[in-house]
This record gives sequence, C-alpha cells and structure tokens, in this order.
Amino acid sequence: MKYETESGSFYNYLGPGCKFCRDGAKMVLFVTGLCHRDCFYCPVSEEKQKNDVTFANERPVLSDQDILCEAHNMQALGTGITGGEPLLVLERVLGYIRLLKDEFGPEHHIHLYTASTPIMEILEQLHSAGLDEIRFHPDMDTWDRLDYSDLATSIEEAKTVGLDVGIEIPSLPRAQQVADFALEHGIFLNLNELEFSQTNSQAMKQHGFSTLNNDGCAVAGSRETAEAIMERCAGLHANFCSSSFKDGVQLRKRLLRTAQNTAREFDEVTPDGTLLYGVVEGEVGGITGLLEQLDVPGNMYECTRGRVELGWWVLEDIAEEIGSVFEAWYEECYPTYGRMVVERIPIDNADAFNV
Ligand code: SF4
Repeated sequence: MKYETESGSFYNYLGPGCKFCRDGAKMVLFVTGLCHRDCFYCPVSEEKQKNDVTFANERPVLSDQDILCEAHNMQALGTGITGGEPLLVLERVLGYIRLLKDEFGPEHHIHLYTASTPIMEILEQLHSAGLDEIRFHPDMDTWDRLDYSDLATSIEEAKTVGLDVGIEIPSLPRAQQVADFALEHGIFLNLNELEFSQTNSQAMKQHGFSTLNNDGCAVAGSRETAEAIMERCAGLHANFCSSSFKDGVQLRKRLLRTAQNTAREFDEVTPDGTLLYGVVEGEVGGITGLLEQLDVPGNMYECTRGRVELGWWVLEDIAEEIGSVFEAWYEECYPTYGRMVVERIPIDNADAFNV
C-alpha cells in the first residue's frame, strides 16, 4: 500500500529512523566533510565539502558537550550520522554513538549513512557501539553491477551483525537498477528527490538536469522516476523523500520542537517554529533602570548579547517611554544555534508584527 503526504513524499514502508525524521525529532550529526568520492550531485555546502568539520544540526561541534546540548535543545529522539564519508573518521563515529546512547539510552535511534563498504570487523564495532541502522550509498558508476561488488557482501554482513540495512540514493534515472538489487537483498530503499544546491548546480546542468519550477530546487523528473520504481518493484520497501518535505515539514517540526523547548517565559513561539520578542539597545543599566521604573517584572526581560530582550507585548505597552530614549524594535529569529534573525520590525510599525 502506498501512502502519500501533502508535501509530495510517498512510501510503502518507513523504518524507525525515517519515522523520527518525519517528526522532526532526529538530529543531523555531520561528522566530517571529508569524502573519497566526487558525486556530481553532491549537495554538501562549500563550508563543509572536503573539510574535516563536525556539525550537530547548525551547531559547530568543538566538544562532546556541543552535541549533547544540541540534542537536548531539540529533544532529539534519534540521530542521523552523515557526511562526507563518516567512516573516514571511524573512531569519532564510534565515540559519538556511545556518547548519545549513554546520554539518551538504547531507544535513541541512530542511523549511519556511508558511501563505503565496511568489512565485518567495522560493522561489528559499529553495532556493539550502539548503531541501529546503516544506509549504503553506492557509487553511481557501479549501479549496473552491484551484484558483483563489495556492497553485496557488506550488506549481508551488516544483516548478520544485527543492523537494519537499507540503501539511500538520489532518485536518478538509473535508480531502477539499485531498486532491483535492494529487492533481491530484502533491504529498504530510500530515494531522495534530486536537488540543485549552491555547490552542484553547474554539474547538474552539465548532466542535463533542470529545476521543476522557478522558485524551488527540486529536479524535474526525479519524482516520476521514484513513482515508476515503486510501481514496478512490488514488494520493495521504499520511501521517496521530497525536497518540499525536507524544507517544509521536517525542518518546521524540528524548529517547533526546539522553540517549544528553549523559549523563555516572554518569547512567543510562532506556528512556523520561530521566536518573537522585543529588543532594546543602548546602555544596559539605563534600560533595566527604566524597565524597573515602568514596573516591568524581572521575568519579562533578559540582558543578553549587550542588549535587553523582552516580551513583544511588554515592549508594545511601553513603546513610547522606551522609544524616546533608546533604540527598540520587534524581532523574529530561528530558535537554532546562532539564532538567525528572520525579521526586524520598528516599534512604530507594530501592526506589521503578525502574531
Ligand atoms: S558520497 Fe555523499 S558526501 Fe561524498 S561526494 Fe557523494 S554525495 Fe557527496
């Protein structure tokens, strides 16, 4: 039976890793940008590509604490380990799996993406560290001869050690060959809608791909390829993850989880998962003195980043008094690391603040 979502994804099977991801409850742990391959469609950003850097969602990782802090902030129920090629930094991967399992328990679901074909010894190490699921990403040049590749051995050995096993590739015209192989081996297939990114757009055009429409990055025809595969391969456990699902549903749900978990008493959480509040800039002691004079309760504001942030409705009430002495505005930001500002609205234009 095929299920479709309003954001264009469809599936006849969703593994536990995908279920957490769909609910925005899976942290993305990008362990390294180093990679031995050079896929023309590689979407990894310039900042990360071929660089040995680690990020937990948007947060740069300099210590184990950064990973735990990010996972707690979003109340993660699982983690997807990705790259680059994660197994180029095997010890780091094993350490992070143990760290997350120790902190959140065995039910914290961890999957690993790899473009390599690990041998039994490595698969056993990953499994005993706590890895739940492995997703292989075979080189496109080998798709027509996978039966005779190291991948077939790696897949069978991964099953033997007790890992859930699947293949994850972009939905490209020759993906049917991979689907037949996945069906033969009784493993699931995740097809990602092919997307243009800043780093791959030139190569994508050279390979004859174009975008589905002017305002999105999804590639025309990628969805149809996945539909045809699912129709042809009855019995294959498959999932097509659309570009709009990743940007619209999954990201929004993660933002909402993070916002609801990290909002201060005076932050308002929007339906999009952003935070709304007011800002007063100037000499902090002078601002807090004025707030006290105006009887603003101490739990309705915070001195942070060299300024004062407060409830937007509090600022609205005292806009005249504050605005005549200090710079003030309303602000909307993402609840993620770095708190990127989405919008700033002057206090004399409060009606534009659509809450
Ligand atoms: S294997 Fe993955 S990270 Fe490496 S080049 Fe290909 S798409 Fe990029």
